[in-house]
Amino acid sequence: SLKGRAAVITGSTSGIGKGIAERLAAQGVDIMLNGFGNRDEILALENKLKSEFGVQVAYSGADMTRPNEIRELIQQAQDLFGSVDILVNNAGIQNVSPVDEFPEDRWDAIIAINLSSAFHTIKAALPGMKEKGWGRVINVASAHGLTASANKSAYVAAKHGVVGLTKAVALEVATQGITSNAICPGWVLTDLVKTQIEARAMKSGRSFDEEKRVMVSEKTPTQDFSTPEQIGDLAVFLCSDAASQMTGAPYSIDGGWMAQ
Ligand code: NAD
Repeated sequence: SLKGRAAVITGSTSGIGKGIAERLAAQGVDIMLNGFGNRDEILALENKLKSEFGVQVAYSGADMTRPNEIRELIQQAQDLFGSVDILVNNAGIQNVSPVDEFPEDRWDAIIAINLSSAFHTIKAALPGMKEKGWGRVINVASAHGLTASANKSAYVAAKHGVVGLTKAVALEVATQGITSNAICPGWVLTDLVKTQIEARAMKSGRSFDEEKRVMVSEKTPTQDFSTPEQIGDLAVFLCSDAASQMTGAPYSIDGGWMAQ
């Protein structure tokens, strides 16, 4: 059981991060939530996790573009829970545009949030994991950490970078009871993806539901989405003793996308 462990999950106020938070909390893990959003909804999530699973839950609004706030996030979790045993780097954003029209500020933001924030959290959290001789680093990369799609240059570059960072960290801590892995989801129906479906539907004139079906079937052999809870269950498995020899690798959960 993971009871007594503590996790920081970046970008856990919605979507995949929230699914991971729920599944880890169900295993008895204390949770530091992070991300943006409506304060009342975040408070409701905190209370739900506390009452449903009897774990400690806290929240930090640290902005993943700001290294000093990232350091504070890890420090705050260590102060509250005594340690950060599980670090899930999940916060992420998307921008869809051809590379020669790609807004420079969007490039910088995607590299900062989707890639550099993971460097800063890992740098801050590893010393504590080394001290305990146990740790789990889980980076939510993407199918786009392993292959590209057009018009997603910054996202694809950042996610390939995350997979590389995952491997480099795994090698450095391999003998110290710490694993470092990446999860590579295909399509998950979150806000990040709903925005893309809406933009596509505007162009094509299709309904949201029709566009959703068309989009998912373009790349996904199963023609279906993964759920945040399924991603959460994979994260739980990567935290288990069964996964102690799984390190330095990306794990696809993508309806067969990578098999093509
Ligand atoms: P989402 O938009 O539902 O969630 C993103 C989370 O990140 C939110 O909690 C948001 O508040 C937070 N966030 C955004 N900018 C932040 C910042 N500057 N500082 C702190 N938090 C910030 O999207 P999601 O689909 O759940 O995405 C989560 C992760 O999964 C991302 O890294 C994304 O790239 C990855 N991913 C998503 C899919 C998919 O199909 N949805 C597929 C593969 C990978």
